[in-house]
Amino acid sequence: MSGFVTRFAPSPTGLLHLGHAASALRVQDLAQAAGGTIRLRIEDIDTARCRPEFEAAILEDLAWLGLEWQGPVRRQSEHFEAYAQVIDKLHQRGLAYRCFRTRREVAAEADRAPHQREAVFRGSPLPVAEEQARLSAGDPHAWRLSIAAARDWLGADADNLVYTETGMPGETQVRVATDTLSDVVIGRKDSPASYHLAACHDDALQGVSHVIRGEDLVPSTPVHVLLQALMGWPRPVYHHHRLLLDENGKRFAKRDASVTLRHLRESGVTPEQIRRMTSRP
Ligand code: GLU
Repeated sequence: MSGFVTRFAPSPTGLLHLGHAASALRVQDLAQAAGGTIRLRIEDIDTARCRPEFEAAILEDLAWLGLEWQGPVRRQSEHFEAYAQVIDKLHQRGLAYRCFRTRREVAAEADRAPHQREAVFRGSPLPVAEEQARLSAGDPHAWRLSIAAARDWLGADADNLVYTETGMPGETQVRVATDTLSDVVIGRKDSPASYHLAACHDDALQGVSHVIRGEDLVPSTPVHVLLQALMGWPRPVYHHHRLLLDENGKRFAKRDASVTLRHLRESGVTPEQIRRMTSRP
């Protein structure tokens, strides 16, 4: 076994479709080529949208497809305590704050600089007495990472964070522009964690050396690299693959039953045919 450890991390909010198959097969192929290990992680922190029957279907579909993962399946909803502890550590260091704002308020307060695609939201904790009053009133709050505090804490390193993007083969170094990040949610109002926090906590815990995922997640990577730097977690190498698109150039959607692996399998399509359907032209 090499030191190459990667993972496949689906969310059980629906059935897997051809886009997921393309990603899972990429994980499988790259791990195999490197003589590495695959971990399977169920990203089910959104307990309102995730369902056990989707998880069962995912495990069945992946086994059918031929994804060979090692070790136990990690289910994030069983580890909320671990994520809460990370938030607590960040809070104690002044790097995280409770945010009572609604989505609409956050959007209204975000600034869009002329050269930036995304509006940037930067907030701050409420004064102690006000925060206490809101907590006593039972008002829901999220936890946000304070980018300003994080940059202060990192000092000169804040402008020198770099991660490796590998095309396997061929590597590029990508600089993380922490000054353009928003105060991201690390604990949701409706869940004790957020995708960002749970994913990079688990990548560190599971010893992931290579994160292989779709290029739709490229905008998340700077946040993950920043969290790794703040928490002293190792920084994996990243490989963001192109997304598989349908004949109209659109991404596959979980609600489109005709492209789910379950439907295709039941219609007699074989895993080899799925491999051909998902391989690049
Ligand atoms: N759970 C995410 C998804 O299903 C994947 C996250 C990741 O690979 O980092 O899109």
